[in-house]
Amino acid sequence: MTSPATPALEGTAFTSRVADRADGGPAADRALVEELAMANHILFREGVVDGFGHVSVRHDKRPDRFLLARNMAPALVTADDIVEFDFDGNPVNANGRTVYLERFIHGEVFRARPDVMAVVHSHSPSVVPFSISRKAKFLPVCHMSGFLGMCTPVFEIRDHAGESSDLLITNSRLGAALAKTLGACDCALMRGHGSTVVGANLREAVFRAVYTEVNAKLQSEAMSLGDFIPLTEGEAVTSARNIASQINRAWDFWVMRAQGKL
Ligand code: MN
Repeated sequence: MTSPATPALEGTAFTSRVADRADGGPAADRALVEELAMANHILFREGVVDGFGHVSVRHDKRPDRFLLARNMAPALVTADDIVEFDFDGNPVNANGRTVYLERFIHGEVFRARPDVMAVVHSHSPSVVPFSISRKAKFLPVCHMSGFLGMCTPVFEIRDHAGESSDLLITNSRLGAALAKTLGACDCALMRGHGSTVVGANLREAVFRAVYTEVNAKLQSEAMSLGDFIPLTEGEAVTSARNIASQINRAWDFWVMRAQGKL
């Protein structure tokens, strides 16, 4: 049996308690769940998320579902905190635990983009200025961030939620609008809020989220010096292709750092 809708049992500004779907289905691979917990820790350690922000991965046995932590700070997430969701944001096994209000970002991006296997949503601070600048375009400025391409879109929530929203993606309609803005890109900025970054696997999404923040820092510094030279479109494509083969090198290092071993 399928639950017809998402009955909100209880909600606050940032969390909600939602009834589970009746149909569970096969459990996700435990190693994938463990890696998702680690991705949370890495994103905190590398300065992408703080008390807020989240990372999801598509279910390995159910491509119409995804895994995401229950509502909590990413640094504290363990494998036991990972919850399975359908694309409408209904949990499968929350068991009454509160879930992220903005889980609709993940569901709608996974729905719209079959090529996407992982999604990071963050408020990483260096990126936000580019979401609110009327002039500055966010461009790849170093060889690590070619994946950004030449036209990172900016999601304007006022176009979808009016002049007095809380800027959060709190339902499927807003999630779908964000996914439409993302289009075929791998990073979308969200005006006055943050960004959403995607990857073909969990490690790639984490890598891109880290280097989206790095790129924003570098571009801001370059702009403070005056005019700057971004990558060409060809350089962005070529460097992104080459760096993609090096992601495990960064991942192994980030794991050690997140574990406090470095
Ligand atoms: Mn957010």
